[in-house]
Amino acid sequence: MGTIDKSNHASIPTVLAKGISPATLDFYGAAGTVTGSKTLLTFNGYRLLVDCGMFQGHKNLRQLNWIDLPFEPKRLSAVVLTHAHLDHAGALPLLVKQGFCGPIYTSAASMDVATVLLLDSANLQQEEATHANRHNTSKHHPAKPLYDMADVEATVNLFKPLSFGDWHHVLPDISIKLQRASHMLGAAFVRVQAGDREVVFSGDLGRAQAPILGAPETLGPVDYVVMESTYGNRQHRTEDPKALLASIINATVRRGGAVLIPAFAVGRAQVLMHAINDLIESKQIPKLPVFLDSPMAVNVTKLYQKHHRDHQLSAEQIKMVFDVAQLVDTTQASKALHALKYPRIIISASGMATGGRVLHHICTLVGEQRNSIVFAGFQAAGTRGARLVAGEPTVRVFGQDLEVKAEIHSIEGFSAHADADQLLDWLESAGGSPRQVFLNHGEPTAADTLRQRVVHELGLPCQVPLLGQRFALI
Ligand SMILES: [Zn+2]
Repeated sequence: MGTIDKSNHASIPTVLAKGISPATLDFYGAAGTVTGSKTLLTFNGYRLLVDCGMFQGHKNLRQLNWIDLPFEPKRLSAVVLTHAHLDHAGALPLLVKQGFCGPIYTSAASMDVATVLLLDSANLQQEEATHANRHNTSKHHPAKPLYDMADVEATVNLFKPLSFGDWHHVLPDISIKLQRASHMLGAAFVRVQAGDREVVFSGDLGRAQAPILGAPETLGPVDYVVMESTYGNRQHRTEDPKALLASIINATVRRGGAVLIPAFAVGRAQVLMHAINDLIESKQIPKLPVFLDSPMAVNVTKLYQKHHRDHQLSAEQIKMVFDVAQLVDTTQASKALHALKYPRIIISASGMATGGRVLHHICTLVGEQRNSIVFAGFQAAGTRGARLVAGEPTVRVFGQDLEVKAEIHSIEGFSAHADADQLLDWLESAGGSPRQVFLNHGEPTAADTLRQRVVHELGLPCQVPLLGQRFALI
């Protein structure tokens, strides 16, 4: 078993002064929470940052985005990005804004998806700042966005694509390999060789039987593992989400109603189209019009075709699957959907009904019993989605309280995260080799529940790092 140095930062230079060169890990985000992922690996004077995510959720977490990064961005040697979700990539423009100008390594597909998501993020922040200035709701005058389009542009210019499955010698004595994590298009777990040690950063791991993306690659032998623990205390239900979706669609069609599915634009919307196409092909539901009404989902859907080698479907198959839906990319076309009277399916963002075009569809559809609204993902507390799923009799949209008469459903089975058993299975494939496992990217209860299982069921030393904590990998 390896020696873990839980010393504070001050003791590290002492070790270096003796001529020993330990690799160190610093946890600057996603420690005790599921956002803001940033882990710094230092070896032989080189500093490799793994992920640079934005803090999201409660206000005290979001405020962390506004304080200076806890390290000197200019002194970083390189960044490697596991995948494009904003909790892993959303603070990259901040890094660049604060002086980083080195390479950001990631897969080619993640480069494209991250570009879409970062541009959307800059846009959203600009809108929020404009709103705050107009309504005088910020204590800052004027309120400013965290970063703007120019910062995003400077960031994407630093992206350097890496192939999956090959070792890339990115820094002296440091090589990295991307392996498939199957969590979203382009997602990787990252294997880093630093001298004679190997460290794997899981990023987010997908499910064992993920539609379109397939299962994550196995972990295999490794010295240290930094693993996510989002679902560390949860198991996915065994119900077949497709069968559940079919029964909801069929019942709604019999009533002559419409099915509205609020869905995350990246990943979830595409998995839903895949499921709906399967249901139509196998005649489990009638062939009815399907609309994908989210400009970002439309853009990302096109990337699935461009990067078809990054998933299990061929370019032709993916085209056929996505042809099931008519892509709605203008606001006018979106509004025209409100006038339709026949049974139909509308997939629209955002997934928790917190904003976006889906709000207009809720206004049109929520007041009629014949319609169904199907939430296809985790609904965070306090969101409109969570309130509807909890059965609240009214919903507030655009300042109006609307009576909820439509049927409200929730299907959890389309999640893109491995559950606790699947995380343990992945870790078990290392065959007992890890000297230490670090669990990040989980709420405290989820991370600690998984920690206990890693220790007791796999017999591996395991810790849950705190924000700002440093470990030496000796
Ligand atoms: Zn993710």
